[in-house]
Amino acid sequence: MLGYHTEDIVGQRLTDFVAAKSVADVQRFLGRVLEQSGAPASVELSLRHNAGTWRDFEIVGKNLLDEVAIEGIVVNLRDITERKQLMAQLETLSETDLLTGTLNRRGFMKLAEREFERMRRAGQKLTLVMFDLDHFKRVNDAYGHAAGDLVLAMVSEQCRQQIRNVDLLGRIGGEEFVILLTGEAMDAVYDVISRLRKAIAAARISTIKGDVSVTASFGMVAIDPKTHDLEMALRVADDALYEAKNAGRNCIKILA
Ligand code: GH3
Ligand code: MG
Ligand code: MG
Repeated sequence: MLGYHTEDIVGQRLTDFVAAKSVADVQRFLGRVLEQSGAPASVELSLRHNAGTWRDFEIVGKNLLDEVAIEGIVVNLRDITERKQLMAQLETLSETDLLTGTLNRRGFMKLAEREFERMRRAGQKLTLVMFDLDHFKRVNDAYGHAAGDLVLAMVSEQCRQQIRNVDLLGRIGGEEFVILLTGEAMDAVYDVISRLRKAIAAARISTIKGDVSVTASFGMVAIDPKTHDLEMALRVADDALYEAKNAGRNCIKILA
């Protein structure tokens, strides 16, 4: 399984095949195996393959020292590298919005929570922006749902062009997006969002029924270490967005 000849591994320790950070895991695993005769214990470890690569294993050990015919510890290894890769791919898929390639609500919340905690520890600032396309139902009604889908993809592309890689973009509802921007002053973020608002309004999607254009309304809120939690910030951003809609749409409102 690991590409070694038997004579090369006889006399080696399991710890010789793991990275330094996993040595304690191996020792804990062996401790559990030795603790109770006959009861299996298991662990997941990355082991070094003879080819110099790492493979993931599910390892089950059983203490058969008391069994006369064996008098040893039996360890079974199952290579789960592909299974783990598949699981990681599924996890990414479950956090991605397939239409726009951005994070979906679940993916956004997971990464945003992480960012929120990091900001708290570092005492930094974040800005949360929520925006919603204006009269989007009319776009679907006039040009069809497929054209609407193209508009949604265009809007997220405009976002990606305006924000930095470290900022998070998510599509959290049908035609509702959120952006979490890190480490910039509010007026700098306002400039970014102003550019985005204008870029969305200026973009055109051509269809057989003619060119489609849309606008969006934006709500912004500053997050600092005093902010209670992310959910609350989202509610405030949503209130700001509601104000932008009431103010006639295609504009940005900020709430503290
Ligand atoms: P407002 O300016 O108040 O936001 O008006 P609106 O028409 O955008 O708001 P409303 O919430 O009434 O309608 C949202 C529309 O977005 C309705 C729905 O058909 C459309 N929509 C939601 N998800 C999708 C999608 O994935 N694709 C397309 N094409 N349309 C979508
Ligand atoms: Mg809308
Ligand atoms: Mg909406």
